[in-house]
Parts: sequence; C-alpha cells; structure tokens
Amino acid sequence: MGTESIAAAADVTTGIRLRNISKSFGKTRVLENFSLDVYQGELCCLLGPSGCGKTTALKIVDGLLEPDNGQVFLENQDITRLSPQRRKLGMVFQNYALFPQMDVFENIAYGLRRRKAPASDITNRVSKVLDIVRLADYERRRVYELSGGQQQRVALARALVIEPRALLLDEPLSNLDARLRADMRQEIKRIQRHLGITMVYVTHDQEEAMSIADRIVVMNQGEVEQIGLPREVYEDPKTRFVADFIGRINFIPVERNSSSFRMFGNSYTLPGEFSGAGHTDVIGAVRPERIRLTRDDASMPAALVRDVFFIGAAVRYRLEPVDSTKNMEIEAEAYVPEEVFEKGQRVGLVIEPKDIKLFPK
Ligand code: ATP
Repeated sequence: MGTESIAAAADVTTGIRLRNISKSFGKTRVLENFSLDVYQGELCCLLGPSGCGKTTALKIVDGLLEPDNGQVFLENQDITRLSPQRRKLGMVFQNYALFPQMDVFENIAYGLRRRKAPASDITNRVSKVLDIVRLADYERRRVYELSGGQQQRVALARALVIEPRALLLDEPLSNLDARLRADMRQEIKRIQRHLGITMVYVTHDQEEAMSIADRIVVMNQGEVEQIGLPREVYEDPKTRFVADFIGRINFIPVERNSSSFRMFGNSYTLPGEFSGAGHTDVIGAVRPERIRLTRDDASMPAALVRDVFFIGAAVRYRLEPVDSTKNMEIEAEAYVPEEVFEKGQRVGLVIEPKDIKLFPK
C-alpha cells in the first residue's frame, strides 16, 4: 500500500498534526513553515542530518519548546499552549534519564506517584508495562545493575506507564552497540504494534529508519524533503538530497538534448518533466545494486574493476567507466552473483532505463 492509500484508508485519522511551525534560536532559523501529519497508530520517523531540526520539532510536540508560529494538534485538539504534563505524551531520550539510585519499579512508578495514583493502581500498571517490555523479573534491580538495553527498556516502560496518547522517541538507541540496537528496534516495533500507539521517532540513522518506520519524513535544514514509505523514499527519491541521504547511490553526469540523454555512451529517452528546450541541466543517479556487470562485449558500455569487496551478502565493486569523465568512479553491488569479477578486469555495464533517476543539476 502506498502513502496515499494509507491516508485514504477509512480507519486512518491524524494522531499528531503540526501546522506551519516556525522556530528560531536567536538568528538561527531552525524550522520554517514545517507541517506534518502523523497518522494515529503509526510509527513515523523523522530522519535527517545532524542539526536539521528533528529534536526541535519533537520538543515542540512535547511542549518542551514553544514554537514562534504555527500550531500543534493531538487527535484534533489544539495543544500548542498546553503544558507538557497536560499533553499526556510519553518521551524517551537517548540518555534514558533514569534515576540511578532507584530500582526499576520506582523508576517506572515515578510518574504515577507524581500524579498521586493509588498504590494498588501503581502496582498493577507497573507490572503490566514490565511485562510489555519483558522485564518482569527485574523490578527490584537498581538501574546501575542493568545492561544498556535493559535500561532502555526501563525508559520505555516509564514512558508507557502513564498510558500516553503518543510516544516521542529521540535517538533512543544511539548509546547501544550495533547488535543490541538491531534487537531493540524490533522490540520497539513489537511494542508499538501491540499497543497500537502513535510514535514519532527521531533518528539520523537511515538504516534504523528504514527498518522500523511505517513512514519516513526526510528533513533537510528545517524543511520536509519527502514523506513516504521506507521503500518509496529509497526507490523513488523526489530530490537529489533524499537520493543521496538514503542508501548508497552513484551520481553520474549525463549529456542531455531535448528528448533524450546519454549515459556512458548509451542513449535513453528523457522523462517528460525534463524534456523541452530551456530546461536546467540534469544529473543521473543509479543505485549500486541496479548496475549489472557482465562479461565485456563491444555492444555495451564498459568499465575497469578497480576494487572488489566482499561484504557478506553481496560483492561490492569500485569501477572506472571507460570513455567517461576522467577519474570518475562508480560503485556496483551484486547480490548472489553468477560470476565474481576480479580487480583489473574489464566488464560490461548494464543499466535499465527504469533504474536511472534524473535530478536537476
Ligand atoms: P541532531 O541529530 O544532531 O540531534 P537535530 O536535527 O535534532 O540534530 P536540533 O537539535 O533540532 O537538530 O537543532 C537544530 C539547530 O538548532 C541546530 O543548529 C542547533 O544548534 C540549534 N539549537 C537547538 N537547540 C538550541 C538552543 N536551545 N539554543 C540555540 N540553538 C539551538
């Protein structure tokens, strides 16, 4: 199902809506007319390079920061001027922000005690969330006796115990090693599906976003570059920035005329949006796995293999196309290849028209 069909599905309502949010710190404008609809029950990732405004957007939703302009809605209620406590949102940070001297139970119960919940209610709710995050036997452990992954589970449980209307997560897994990070991603996804809770998840790690998100919002300098399913932003990037930021890609100079363009000596039809005179110059972009290598044959463009890397599931090649701009290198990746080529070998390059993206130069 594509993004539009998700939105059109009858049961999709908006969980969190940001409308024309602007925010500056002194002279630094961080968000400019930033708008976003996060659907009820989805896991929406804000993805972008460091400093692009992800955390600022999240803090504006949570109420830790006030926007200069614009509005925030939660399930259609305008919460722009509501205090963070009254928004009833859960927040999980990178550094967990747990109380090291307290045990797991007390860390989780803290928010409920502050809300003066009855003792029996606290016991029930804490044990329920401990089950959800799979820490049922750990309630009397001190936080410093836990591993990083367990501490992050406590932070999740503490955010969930207040039964938040949505959960906001800011780089929650950055402090964990690669293996644990991958496990915890699955865990967060499982909890999100189990509870059907709306989550906004900030990360600068594109692999993390691709593997966990229902939809990804790619941000650049305080603006939305593209919103889509993980597969959409990977396979159909709308801008050069998105193509470059998500996954690996080769940018390849092309020669264009009014109705066609040439790449490595092959001619391709120019897509409608770029055809016609007076259009700006374009550059081609091809994912490494979309470049197929064959034995060299005079009928197709050729390249010299400069390096071969075995990366487990694939073989990655660094190639120097013959008859192209001097010193240019491209990358190709072959999964389950029939034949592995060697350094120094001359190979043929096969690139299907559908696998070439063009962007204004
Ligand atoms: P990262 O991935 O590094 O956390 P980010 O996309 O979350 O980055 P933000 O934390 O939203 O980025 O910051 C965006 C910009 O706003 C940065 O240039 C940052 O230096 C600036 N900024 C953030 N908070 C403040 C503040 N309280 N005072 C001044 N400048 C700030």
